[in-house]
Amino acid sequence: MKTIGLIGGMSWESTAHYYRVINQETAARRGGLHSAPLIVHSVDFAPIAAMQSAGDWEGAGHQLAGIARDLEVAGAEVIGLATNTMHIIADQITDAITVPFIHIADPTSDALLADGFETVGLLGTRFTMEMDFYRDRLTARGLTALIPDVDRTNLNGIIYDELCRGVVREESRRIYVAAIERLAARGAEAVILGCTEITMLIDDAISPLPVYDTTDLHAKALVSAALS
Ligand code: GLU
Repeated sequence: MKTIGLIGGMSWESTAHYYRVINQETAARRGGLHSAPLIVHSVDFAPIAAMQSAGDWEGAGHQLAGIARDLEVAGAEVIGLATNTMHIIADQITDAITVPFIHIADPTSDALLADGFETVGLLGTRFTMEMDFYRDRLTARGLTALIPDVDRTNLNGIIYDELCRGVVREESRRIYVAAIERLAARGAEAVILGCTEITMLIDDAISPLPVYDTTDLHAKALVSAALS
């Protein structure tokens, strides 16, 4: 099995999910006491979040590309970035490394298309919902992504003010379920949890639409790439 390099800490709450899923999936696929050869570089999220707010994507990309390069030098043979939002700078990372980079939207698209879905809801930070980088990647694969037409500021605030700080509130869960109901009413057949912390709030049991959790799908795709 190849060594996985993971750029994490955005937030560490979701990186902890990646750590568990990557190792569980490795054990499920390889059996016995197998666990994943894995190097995690977990950043301090506060300066990255400040660069996001300031629109300094170039600066954040420079930092994360440097980390990707360091992971490769340290022995990583496949690299993942454990946040949807920062895939805004995915090209800066792929330009900096020679090993495969697994884009978080790709295993998500693969799973949706395999299940026969075409029109999907996309929940995430306001950057992921409102900027083009993520929806364009889905569109290129033949998916139509709908984003909430109301409440996006609130949905975004729940990610940064609560989930990234480990706070899970029932009221916030209701707000997310209501957003999924509205997406379903507009024609969404499934919903992408397009932020790696939303898995803390929403699962298939409470969602009105089938859930495609980017954290889970991306972590498993990294294992598949490492085993290929
Ligand atoms: N983890 C989040 C995501 O998947 C949000 C935090 C960030 O801005 O990186 O988009």
